[in-house]
Amino acid sequence: MTALIVLVVVLVLVGAAVLAFRPGRKAKDAAVGSTTTASSDFFDADAGTTLAEPDEIDLEVNEGALDEETFEEVIAGEEALLAEERESREPPAYRERLSRSRGLFSSLRGRLGSTKIDEDVLGELEASLLSADVGVGTTDHVMDAVRSKAAAGELDDVGGLLGAVRAELLALLALDVDGNEVDRSLARSAPAGRVPVWLFVGVNGVGKTTTIGKLATAEAAEGRRVLLAAGDTFRAAAGDQLALWSERSGAEIVKGDEGGDPSAVVFDAIQRAGARKVDLVLADTAGRLHTKVNLLEELKKVRRVADREPGSVTEVLLVLDATTGQNAVVQARQFSDAVGATGVVLTKLDGTARGGVVVAIGRELGLPVKLVGLGEGPGDLVPFDAEAFIDALLEP
Ligand code: GDP
Repeated sequence: MTALIVLVVVLVLVGAAVLAFRPGRKAKDAAVGSTTTASSDFFDADAGTTLAEPDEIDLEVNEGALDEETFEEVIAGEEALLAEERESREPPAYRERLSRSRGLFSSLRGRLGSTKIDEDVLGELEASLLSADVGVGTTDHVMDAVRSKAAAGELDDVGGLLGAVRAELLALLALDVDGNEVDRSLARSAPAGRVPVWLFVGVNGVGKTTTIGKLATAEAAEGRRVLLAAGDTFRAAAGDQLALWSERSGAEIVKGDEGGDPSAVVFDAIQRAGARKVDLVLADTAGRLHTKVNLLEELKKVRRVADREPGSVTEVLLVLDATTGQNAVVQARQFSDAVGATGVVLTKLDGTARGGVVVAIGRELGLPVKLVGLGEGPGDLVPFDAEAFIDALLEP
């Protein structure tokens, strides 16, 4: 808001100064009937123009110094700036960000109208699915489904084949291993009198701290009071990084000493959150430890501490780096059992990731991918949208 006011003042000043130097200005001012003595005092070309100090300027008086045309130009410029600002807050598009995943099915798309669905075409489809990183299990599942459709004469052409692949992948993403609709919502409410805590777990470098920062920004923008617990005491930079996000988002932060006990940091954060009527605690955890204590054992302890009154763990989000491909699935398996993950945040889908790993995680682990990272900026963390994602994967 302050920035906007400053911008308006600057634009008005510049516009008025331009007018002041234009010959015949006084006649024009008289024509629009808006000249005031004050405006002449500010910018009187005849008297040698001097700019007044900003705090002496009366905005309304200066508006009067502009002719209608110029004033409208200034307003139009303002509106364009606001529209640009609104646009920059639009969520990033999957198609645009998943640059590495696009084009994997292009050779099949090249023969969309072809009615020949033979082993050659099916072999190409299989190779495309594998290169998209959906994993061997998912590829086999999709191939079985399309082969039986082809055998039943349900696929007219290559376009129909790709349509069947799309439907199959969407069905895999829509249902969990037990056949229930996948719930990708984030639990923001805790039992009465308790503070919801979201724990973020995952190995070093996957993007836990950045994800927390992005979420803090989004949650605070929606009016929630957020507290960050800097539980990654292994990396000194993680605390500093989180402190920066806390400044940007206005969220409070509780930090510990480097090498300190992560559970102690989380304990302090939750006590503080209870006392301050915080709406949500976002707790970072370490991906490595200084001590020889087993990481997963340490995370279990952090979870137990976070769940003590007034805290209540409502989400344990496993953060995985999509660029590590099938390795992310292996990590997910190790973490999810130990800490009881409730969902996955898949980061760096904009990078060199092939993206299909989303399907593998859902299918092979039964864990819902709740959020995806499509870039490093504060607005680049978005809820996972299966349809937009599959279309980005399959379309050219
Ligand atoms: P942590 O060790 O798990 O806390 O990982 P960090 O949050 O420090 O992230 C490691 C690096 O990954 C940083 O350079 C982040 O900016 C980057 N990063 C995190 N999320 C994304 C994402 O969605 N896209 C891209 N391109 N980079 C990301």
